[in-house]
Amino acid sequence: MYPRVILKGTLIKKSQQKKRTSPCNYKERFFVLDTQDLKYSERRPGKKPTLKGCIELSRIKCVEIVCSDVPIPCNYKYPFQVFHDNHYLYMFAPDNDCRQRWVRALKEETKYNNLVAKYHLNFWMDGRWRCCNQTEKLAPGCQEYVPLGYASKKPLPQTPDEKMDAYDGGQRMAIALQDYTPQDHSDLPLWKDQVYVLIDSSNSDWWTIQDDSGNTGFVPSMYVTEKFGTNFERFEWYNKNITRGRAEDLLMTEGKEGAFMVRDSRQAGVYTVSVFTKAPGSNGEKNPRVKHYQIRQNETEESTFYLAEKYLFSTIPELIHYHQHNAAGLITRLRHPVSQDRGCCQDLTQPSQANQWEVDPQELSLGQVLGTGQFGLVLEGRWRERKVAVKMIKEEGMSEEEFKEEARNMMRLSHCKLVQLYGVCTQRSPTCLVFEFMESGCLSEHLRARRGRLSQDIMLGMCLDVSEGMAYLESSNFIHRDLAARNCLVSHNNEVKVSDFGMTRFVLDDQYTSSLGSKFPIKWSAPEVIKYSKFSSKSDAWSFGVLMWEVYSEGRLPYEHRSNAEVVESLNAGLRLLKPRLTPETVHPLMEWCWKEKADDRPSFAVLLHQLASISDL
Ligand code: ADP
Repeated sequence: MYPRVILKGTLIKKSQQKKRTSPCNYKERFFVLDTQDLKYSERRPGKKPTLKGCIELSRIKCVEIVCSDVPIPCNYKYPFQVFHDNHYLYMFAPDNDCRQRWVRALKEETKYNNLVAKYHLNFWMDGRWRCCNQTEKLAPGCQEYVPLGYASKKPLPQTPDEKMDAYDGGQRMAIALQDYTPQDHSDLPLWKDQVYVLIDSSNSDWWTIQDDSGNTGFVPSMYVTEKFGTNFERFEWYNKNITRGRAEDLLMTEGKEGAFMVRDSRQAGVYTVSVFTKAPGSNGEKNPRVKHYQIRQNETEESTFYLAEKYLFSTIPELIHYHQHNAAGLITRLRHPVSQDRGCCQDLTQPSQANQWEVDPQELSLGQVLGTGQFGLVLEGRWRERKVAVKMIKEEGMSEEEFKEEARNMMRLSHCKLVQLYGVCTQRSPTCLVFEFMESGCLSEHLRARRGRLSQDIMLGMCLDVSEGMAYLESSNFIHRDLAARNCLVSHNNEVKVSDFGMTRFVLDDQYTSSLGSKFPIKWSAPEVIKYSKFSSKSDAWSFGVLMWEVYSEGRLPYEHRSNAEVVESLNAGLRLLKPRLTPETVHPLMEWCWKEKADDRPSFAVLLHQLASISDL
């Protein structure tokens, strides 16, 4: 019987240093876990994968996450370990969910092995275990190993108490995003757009739901989304019993532009958004203050909420999520959720160190010009022993204060398919942004320069790379807003990375930011962006469809001979870009899916990545 594949994907692997003298390095590898082995291979666009290693599952003695206190020197920041034979394999996942998936699956497949009783929870480094200071690499572990501390692939049935917790005080509902055919008796079928009772979503891969007839079963979490009612207690921005005065005190104390919360209004069943700002008001007031906006409900359609009339949402969490990314009628974007129990929530929004993004001008040297961009010249440079690209910001070109606020968040976005922002140098003029250097320049030029010489593998590899970077941005709740081949860059080994994410928010040129402006990227923009500036990961998905079109037409300009106005007209008439000659039959439906009129009907990047990876495995 052939082994069955359980999980596959790209991870970074640290060299196992089986000999004392073997080098320490970090390499990207494509891992495949099947029912017999854990295999890893090197994948390069246009080349056949080469198998680099294979570990029989029966030899594995421990699988666990690594709790590390040291900075991780590669792009994937979530380490875990596999102890097999007498070797430690350290792997790094791009995010915690991905790490949990691998650890869970590996634990499940090795649970009947001869396992260790104790393990090391930190790294072996510089000749010692960082957790217990033992200096023998094979010294017994210091922490009890729990073989199935995580749920098995599908979670075990819950105890009644746990069930009550999962209900969270009220009934939770889920909507199917697409049909699902059960794979075994414990699954439940899904019908797109049908609503189910959500029983348990604590497992990141498999949710438990109940259908109309009372049947309960598992479904892949990727196929469903939670439908929110008015049970917001789980959201960090919601403060249940708080007065207007106390809300103002908390937000004023926080004192950060865009600090906000949602609270109950005095009027029953109505909610208010309170937000702190220092921005000058329409009647000239300049003092830092808190503004209150009531969340209104459309009279005719019961489930339509809005803060600013033009932007309507079917749930309050969706409305808040949207205004976290778009001011759209508010005095400022909702930036920092504040909770009376926890203060300002730390996660993505807080720097761990002040000014950690500041690049010391002494450490930065500048070289030749690479090109000109929206913000000004881009130069080659050197910073801390590495080649970098430096964007010089021309005066009046960028809203610098806003950018500095965001730079820390952007620097935390770290993925091998994103062009890394290393830091910002504000101490000399002009201000400059320091990025990872990409030898082969921008993707659109790269495509044009190689017309007629691009193989199907290479083109699919490009789409796959971009979808991977975008799936990471999507999972970080970050919207690109200007995804196009011109905003992707190519590395020395032909890897494509997504660049310039979120940067349009800081452009001060109206011609570029207004959908009526001559520089606005209409040809890459979703209809709701053109009409209402409504950006989301689903509007990024539309742009991704156009990017795939650019790849398969070898860098041609979309709607080459048509004006923006003509493009808008043909989109309104339901017309779409035609299939480029080189597009495989398997890829074209994905482009069309990205160009669905309604944002909700478009695929997420997680789904796009999955689909493209399946095509590349064919
Ligand atoms: P902007 O986003 O400010 O409009 P671009 O990103 O388009 O600027 O940069 C202009 C040019 O500079 C690109 O076409 C590319 O040739 C070069 N460039 C930009 N970033 C990098 C980088 N990280 N590595 C190498 N070259 C780069």
